[in-house]
Amino acid sequence: MIAILDGYVDEPSCLGVPPYISPYPRYIAGMLEKLKVEWFYVTIDQYRENPKVVEKADKIIIIAGIAVPGKYLGGNPLSFREIPSIAPEKEKIIVGPMVLEIDDWPEGCEVLPFPFEHKLYELLGGDVRDATRNFVNKFALLGAKVVKQHPDYPNVICEIETYKGCYWQKCSFCIERIHRISMREARAVVAEIKALYDLGIRHFRLGNQTDFFTYLADFDKEIPRPNPEALKEFHRAIWENCPKIKTLHLDNVNPKTIAEYPDESREIIKTIVTYQTPGNIAAMGLESADERVIRKNSLLATPEEVMFAVEVINEYGRHVGYNGLPYFLPGINFVFGLKGETKETFEKNYEFLMEILERNLMIRRVNLRQVKVFPFTPMAEIGERNVRKHKRYFKLFKEKIRRDFDSKMLERIVPKGRLLTDLRVEVVKDRISFARQLSTYPLLVGFYGVFQRNTFLDGRVVGYGRRSITAVPKINLNDADLNQLLAIPGIGKNTAARILSGKPYKDFQELEKIIGKEKIAILARYFTM
Ligand code: SF4
Repeated sequence: MIAILDGYVDEPSCLGVPPYISPYPRYIAGMLEKLKVEWFYVTIDQYRENPKVVEKADKIIIIAGIAVPGKYLGGNPLSFREIPSIAPEKEKIIVGPMVLEIDDWPEGCEVLPFPFEHKLYELLGGDVRDATRNFVNKFALLGAKVVKQHPDYPNVICEIETYKGCYWQKCSFCIERIHRISMREARAVVAEIKALYDLGIRHFRLGNQTDFFTYLADFDKEIPRPNPEALKEFHRAIWENCPKIKTLHLDNVNPKTIAEYPDESREIIKTIVTYQTPGNIAAMGLESADERVIRKNSLLATPEEVMFAVEVINEYGRHVGYNGLPYFLPGINFVFGLKGETKETFEKNYEFLMEILERNLMIRRVNLRQVKVFPFTPMAEIGERNVRKHKRYFKLFKEKIRRDFDSKMLERIVPKGRLLTDLRVEVVKDRISFARQLSTYPLLVGFYGVFQRNTFLDGRVVGYGRRSITAVPKINLNDADLNQLLAIPGIGKNTAARILSGKPYKDFQELEKIIGKEKIAILARYFTM
């Protein structure tokens, strides 16, 4: 019996921290199914709660590695320090991006090179013939059922792989150079989504590639030319097979592709807006708006090209969808601590973002991170020297962006009064329930009131935090409390007290004598009856 212990991954092009489940546990479960080995799945958070969950396993396959560290609400990724204490008496196989950064493993751990799929199958006794990514297709189908063992099932988002590798492979810090370009056939990806859909999954992210726009593209061209027709067919096939999908999103887009092929990219954006679901984000790497840093690190896209990509996506994607969010917006990634970085780099990045605000464009997410240096990348030449040297600048810059950019952009994207739907409660703290849509880079919404984890709520926006929003849940007025009433513009202490003392009501008309028609109209926007 083998335990698949999911320590969660976060790579530039693959996410597996809950509510996400990465493809890796699904592939591994598929391999074990194929080899007729008994298996079960647990997450690292389940293990921490009760280490006995792996007791019946003879061997543990641990998936781990956070290559792009972040803050996570849905789960706490496994750290290297924890590994020696995990069932020390049992044999362990370690897979995932963690192996890229650690050399010194504890005894009893068999560590496989990353990417691991071919090696693992061989180690388990399987026959490896196909060296391409299509190798995973059969395992993706056989192992889909692992989702039923996820503690958040069916409220999980399945990260779906389309292709590995990057045509460019030159940015100094990037770990994608470890992958050869290899695509999965569209029909295999659709079949995988269908298998997961048949198991009750309704949320998907086509997130496991470096550039969604070049999935199914012609890579024999000097610069891969996108294939809008093939992508449209791919989307149609997904909906034909899975008509009740609730979330279909993507992750990475290379702004260079949009700048090089604007016509094809416009067609692809229209397909995404038509066939994927609102709240979608194209995470794009600018990394730095400073030409010196761009040159020294062989970064790909120029600030002008990224600005162009932002404009084109805004052109088609900024209108509001049925869940309260714009259909499709860009996100921008910056990396700090790169070669050639100076104080001026921070100023140039600031100016770039301010220009976006001034031009009335929308960006759903600005990701600011310090470079994590991997030994096999050109960044190893200077290591974390600039990270350490500019630590203070980075901190100040982050503050400034949160204050001058993020809050203004949030108000532009989700103005006060906007109704957001299908928010899933994840955590409750100080009588505020924190919820998010099951989507790509979801907005964090704080609801006044205490609601059970996994409750789904709709709510209207009433305020803004630094990178989150506050909302009033759209619940029955008879269930509303004082804080929820007071959060509504136009409802003061006296009105709220009168409303509460007259509860319960049959309908809004019953309130007319107490608060007047005008206020009833306001309340009816925020509550049901
Ligand atoms: S374009 Fe650069 S950063 Fe993006 S995946 Fe390719 S090598 Fe990495």
